Amino acid sequence: MYLSLIPQLQKVPWKSIVLHPNIHPRHKFTLWLAILRRLATVERLLKFGIHVPPTCAFCDSAMETVDHLFFRCHITSSFWQRLLSWLGFHRAIGEWQDEVQWVCSYAKKKSGSGAIISSVFAMCVAIIWRERNGIRFQKGLFQLDRNIIYNSYVKFDATLPIIEAFTDEEIIALVIGVGEQAQEYGS
Ligand SMILES: [Zn+2]
Repeated sequence: MYLSLIPQLQKVPWKSIVLHPNIHPRHKFTLWLAILRRLATVERLLKFGIHVPPTCAFCDSAMETVDHLFFRCHITSSFWQRLLSWLGFHRAIGEWQDEVQWVCSYAKKKSGSGAIISSVFAMCVAIIWRERNGIRFQKGLFQLDRNIIYNSYVKFDATLPIIEAFTDEEIIALVIGVGEQAQEYGS
């Protein structure tokens, strides 16, 4: 009777991302929890009888679940979309599982693209979660931390000259896509 459980336990397609050596250690844990659906989202807290404001901290229009945060929410999905275009990918964003699978397919590759896609994806998930916590607990405003972006790409400067060619401000402008905001973060 336990045999039916074994295939599920053996299938760890996400291992290639979470164990990727190029992912920043600070981002790894959040990514791992997100993939295991163990992040303390509202949906999960409610199951434990903990009542908190139920809607998404970003759009305030849907229940906060892992699937909503990554990336049904139009705000977080547009962030991931911008990161993808910055990396040169123009594709429609799917559900959380689809995105994990898509990144996994690259993470398995030995090329530089596997390293940077895994790393940027982990950064994206970690930033979304961190900003969500900031909004919920400190009533902060949604913004990107230039240091996190910097930490993520700086590891690849040797293998990815295209990234080296950008300044911090340009990277942020590319990622968030708005000139004025980039100036704001740069100040
Ligand atoms: Zn939302």
